[in-house]
This record gives sequence, structure tokens and C-alpha cells, in this order.
Amino acid sequence: MGDVVFLRDNSLEQLKQCKLFILDIDGTFYLSGKPFDGSKKFVDTLDSQGKKLVFLTNNSNRTIESYIEEFSKFGFNLSNDQILTAGVATAQYLFEEFGKKRVYIVGTDDIKTEFARAGHVVVEDDPEIVVVTFDKTLTYEKLKKATLFVSRGAIFVVTNPDLNCPSSEGPLPDSGAIASVIRKATGLYPNIVFGKPQPRLIEIVMKQNNIKPAETCMIGDRLYTDILAGIQAGVLTVLVLTGEATKEEIKRSPIKPDIIAHHIGEIAELLKNEL
Ligand SMILES: [Mg+2]
Repeated sequence: MGDVVFLRDNSLEQLKQCKLFILDIDGTFYLSGKPFDGSKKFVDTLDSQGKKLVFLTNNSNRTIESYIEEFSKFGFNLSNDQILTAGVATAQYLFEEFGKKRVYIVGTDDIKTEFARAGHVVVEDDPEIVVVTFDKTLTYEKLKKATLFVSRGAIFVVTNPDLNCPSSEGPLPDSGAIASVIRKATGLYPNIVFGKPQPRLIEIVMKQNNIKPAETCMIGDRLYTDILAGIQAGVLTVLVLTGEATKEEIKRSPIKPDIIAHHIGEIAELLKNEL
């Protein structure tokens, strides 16, 4: 252990002024559904200080309800507007951009439900759009269909660029890795890659809460998704060391957070002047 590292002079003052905290989930709030030691303290501290907390995950295979149900088991009661996933944001964005389309989804029934809810027609044949998600029910048949549809001209969309998802077993193949099979097989690159590091998800959350970038903090465990998204959205960035990034990686990377903490409990301690 050691101290929290501030890479910019006024970052502690800015942290205390933040009214909106956007938090990554995997590797930041919990690992494989098990919250870290400081997670409860972090949530309680934001609550007691009247600060807003929104979870933002690149995970694209689950419904919002499934997160609300899971979090309630830890004793955290989230409302619908306190969680946004790359899968749900992609469904909403594609509807706003293209209207009602025939969409083939490489994904679970949960994410198909979210696409239908956003207004799309989820189909098995002849789609106008192919969407690749973090599909734990992936089969060769799905890869084959997606490859044929993309090669015939369907718009190729990936919900999030992550190559793997951290778990207690180790890294699991995520949307980016699954999409790479279709990319190699077709020779075509995706037309749209959603999720962090695109700043759009953070911008959606700030807009929903009517809070400016100067009063917003993005906390995550990955430099090239969470922190880069935060930098591109113009908000304060905090990297935690409970997930993927290591101190060695921070030294090598051109992407630098404003603050480095061992875990989110330390951010709570900073907010309460206990550190
Ligand atoms: Mg993470």
C-alpha cells in the first residue's frame, strides 16, 4: 500500500467539488459480483454528502433490471437512472440515428429484450444491422450468420471494444474479441464501435443529471476505456488499482488519470477528509 497519487495540482479540490460520480463496475466496484471492501463506504459517503452516483459499464449482455436486482442483494438500492450499459446505450443510439431497423444480435436474450424495448425489430435473417455484444451464449452458427450478413452489406456495430472482461477465473473473451472473428472473416472493419472510450456514454449521463463536466468524476480500472472516456468527456478522472491497470502500466501509458487510488474506499476517505 501507499498513498493516493495526484497527477494534477488541483485534482483534490476538484474531486471535492464534484456532484456526479460515474463509476465503472467490473474491477472498480466489484469483481465477479463480489463488491470490494471500500465499495459500501464509497456509496454511503456519496449518499451522506448528497452526491449523485451512476454506474456505467461497457458490459453489453445484461438488462438494467438484472443489475438493479444484483445490487439489491448487496444492500444497494439503485434506481433505473443510476445505471447505464453500453448495450442499452447502443440500442438507444441506433434507434435515434437510424430509426426502426431489422437487427441481428450476436447476444443473449437479455440484450435482445433491450433492443426490442428501444424500438428495433430483432430478426434472425436478412438484417439491416448486425450488433455484436458480450455473448456468453456464443455459437459457431451465430458467428456464421453475422459474417454472412456483414459480408452482404449489413451495418456492422460493436457495443464495446473490450477484448476481454475480467473475472475471478481470469480474462473472458468480450465483444471486441468476438467482433474480431467477424472482422477477419469478412475483411471488413466495424462501422460503429460504441461504449467507453467513446465519451458519448458519459455525456448522456451528465445530460440526464444536468451536471457539467467540471463537476463530474469518472472512476474506473482501465486506462484505455474508463480513463480515456473521462478525458475525452472533459471530466475529472480517477484510476483504481483493483482491476486491470497496474502502476507499471500507468508509467508506460500516454493516458494519465488525474488521481490514482488503490480502491474506491480511498476516494470516500478523501471526500470525508480522513486521508
Ligand atoms: Mg472495469
